[in-house]
Amino acid sequence: MVKFKLFLVLFFSVNFCFAQINIGFLGLDFNKSKQIDILNERIDSLNAVISDNRKSHTKITRELDSTLNTTTQELFEIKSILKNYQDTVKVLKKQLYDITTPSDSTLMNGEYNSDVASEKWSEMDVFIENWSTTNLFPYVYTKNNKIPNSLNIPLFKYDSGFAIPFEGNVFSGFGMRRGRMHKGLDIRLQRHDTVRACMAGIVRFASYNSGGFGNIIIIRHLNGLETYYAHLQKMVVKPNDMIRAGDFIGTGGTSGTKRTGPHLHFECRWKDYPLDPRLFIDYTKFELKRDTLLISPKVLRAKPTPTRGKYHTIKSGDTLYGLALRYKTSVSRLCKLNGLKKTSTLRINQKIRIR
Ligand SMILES: [Zn+2]
Repeated sequence: MVKFKLFLVLFFSVNFCFAQINIGFLGLDFNKSKQIDILNERIDSLNAVISDNRKSHTKITRELDSTLNTTTQELFEIKSILKNYQDTVKVLKKQLYDITTPSDSTLMNGEYNSDVASEKWSEMDVFIENWSTTNLFPYVYTKNNKIPNSLNIPLFKYDSGFAIPFEGNVFSGFGMRRGRMHKGLDIRLQRHDTVRACMAGIVRFASYNSGGFGNIIIIRHLNGLETYYAHLQKMVVKPNDMIRAGDFIGTGGTSGTKRTGPHLHFECRWKDYPLDPRLFIDYTKFELKRDTLLISPKVLRAKPTPTRGKYHTIKSGDTLYGLALRYKTSVSRLCKLNGLKKTSTLRINQKIRIR
């Protein structure tokens, strides 16, 4: 009997389980289709969003394109305005140059009477012998550099005229100054003032000089004289450039000076021998005093002593401080001359500039 009851119980429970599984499967199918519907709805709505975005994107692209077009057009206009502006500046500069540069008729003694056409200048002896674009003083070490007893050189005969390098006050002249020979005129100017070539010639040297000249232009003239223009801010000519009297060669400044302020150091030399420019230029009336210049030992009384550097070759044990003591200079001066720092190490056989 117990066995029969047990069998019944077992029978019913098995049936019940099967029914449950069937219901479960039905329920699962129903859930799935509902989820698919939801997913489809979401896909639809996402598609709608994408399509909206695409539309607005196309709109923005179109707007950007048109903005870009306008900007490009505006840029073109600005460029053409700028071009016009630059052209005007050029014209104005030219006018300014014409106004400030003495024309041939206003050049003192101004008729052009060169015996040699300017394209032949470079073949002339004066521009070949002792020509150096790297050496400040190319004559000084040559053997036949004797001062003539009396040689009259023309200031104009071969020249196109004369111009004052800068019409300013001479605050320091040619001659002894603080125990040293001052070999030129110091002419007061403002930084960026225009400096002009006083006579026609060819630029022999145009470079920075650390010996005190700073930016210096040297022009050799047809009569053999050389003129020096030192402490320039800017140099607008280069070696071997041909120059007419009155040409703009550079702007005034303070390069190579210490405390003097902006000025032009103007020198005139004959075969490296300095002579007083005021022998032939009246620097109060700003005019030429004479047509010829007499070269003689009296006129060339100043020695051409070049500001050549003095060097020391480093040996074991040398220090900047020791060198400063030995050569009666300072460590900071040595550093400045040689581009060193006070802490720089010195190499054996390194050449150190003393002066
Ligand atoms: Zn000077």
